[in-house]
Amino acid sequence: MTALWDLTAHAARERLLRREISSTELTQAVLDRIESVEPQVRAYLTVTPERALEQARAADAALAAGNPATTPALTGIPVAVKDVLCTRGTLTTCASRILENFVPPYDATAVARLQAAGAVIVGKTNMDEFAMGSSTENSGFFPTHNPWGLDRVPGGSSGGSAAAVAAGECLVSLGTDTGGSIRQPAALCGVVGLKPTYGRVSRYGLVAFASSLDQIGPFGRDVEDCALLLEAIAGHDPRDATASTEVVPDFRAALTGDVRGLRVGVPQEYFIAGMEPDVSRLVRQAIADLAALGAEVVDVTLPHTEYALATYYIIAPAECSANLARYNGVKYGLAATDEADMWRAMDLARERGFGAEVKRRIMLGTYALSAGYYDAYYRKAQQARTLIKQDFDTAFAQCDVVVGPTTPTTAFRLGEKTADPLAMYLSDIFTIPTNIAGLPGLSVPCGFDTAGLPVGVQFIGRPFDEATLLRVAHAYEQGQPHAHARPAL
Ligand code: GLN
Repeated sequence: MTALWDLTAHAARERLLRREISSTELTQAVLDRIESVEPQVRAYLTVTPERALEQARAADAALAAGNPATTPALTGIPVAVKDVLCTRGTLTTCASRILENFVPPYDATAVARLQAAGAVIVGKTNMDEFAMGSSTENSGFFPTHNPWGLDRVPGGSSGGSAAAVAAGECLVSLGTDTGGSIRQPAALCGVVGLKPTYGRVSRYGLVAFASSLDQIGPFGRDVEDCALLLEAIAGHDPRDATASTEVVPDFRAALTGDVRGLRVGVPQEYFIAGMEPDVSRLVRQAIADLAALGAEVVDVTLPHTEYALATYYIIAPAECSANLARYNGVKYGLAATDEADMWRAMDLARERGFGAEVKRRIMLGTYALSAGYYDAYYRKAQQARTLIKQDFDTAFAQCDVVVGPTTPTTAFRLGEKTADPLAMYLSDIFTIPTNIAGLPGLSVPCGFDTAGLPVGVQFIGRPFDEATLLRVAHAYEQGQPHAHARPAL
């Protein structure tokens, strides 16, 4: 019998509604699991057991009183939240020393919507500082370990949220993705992760890294759980001017299992030298499996892919240099109280509070935006951004979804890339174009390499067409034996 912490959210919901289990039992099982595996995995920065059990008791009362049809979709389901999302009354550090003591007075909209849907929030997950990184090693506190190989990284920046789902330390979780931070860790930890269309989910209360790229999205152990979670958090919000008024469809209704006639586009630029052979073999196998299910596979081209990384590493640092200017210890966060001179105190707070990668990004961005360099770098990057977006527009005239690998490699060893920022940046080569174009992207497990590490296949969709991504990923996932594999911890 499946342990309670190992249930998918949708399976747990059925059992909760039938009153076979209570949310208190389910939440306690997850808290016990955290206690037993967390010393090895270290997915959480903060666990909130009292609060979780209190929410679980409230969920049980609602389940006892309520009619199953009107009980909110996540009632009693244990969820973890990346520490870049504000949670009222609970520490929100962004894994940065500069926000070590920051307790927000308000909830992010995505968090408020989880609570309105009845979710039980078990804690805040580890990440790369301010979401800058691909391995969670840039956390200002400690690295997270991959549940499939404890000497490996979980990916990043949402490594804690991905590892927590893979390890059974929550049922589902929220992450954020600016250049791949949901999809890349999902691939490396063998779970499903979805970056919605820019504007699909409100960014209110998401601590900003690069505002034109950041999006919040779900992790789950299967596609249906991601659909469930996305539905709960998506939709317009007057507090975020970029949150779209586009209607939120019933995403679970899209999970028909039928992909006959769906045109799946394979870009040659996503199968490159330097990729691990196991990754390209398993992704090609997934494409063949889709063809066997009746999808039509077509070749497409995304010719400006080669400029995506360079474009991203101008735009994202430029936006971050502006967004992170607010951390100077004056209004909140780490302050240099030992320094009498105001300007020196601000410098010192930043010098002490930010880690090396964050400082590197602030310097890159400040440089790219400075007079004399703006036209050469920032303006050029914006022009390249348009070309990358147009590549996708052209491709989507020929196909309904684009398919390719999520990452060029499986999980690398802790410490392997920390001395080489460029090698680390290359982890996101296949995920970054999606953010640049504002499109939705989803990673779903497609097997294991010869070392037993998970591989992810990525689907990219038209704007606001998460439903098709979920449909194709769900159809693919059915009948795949690896979909039920769990790490031995
Ligand atoms: N790894 C990329 C970076 O370091 C993307 C991070 C993200 O999506 N937040 O910027």
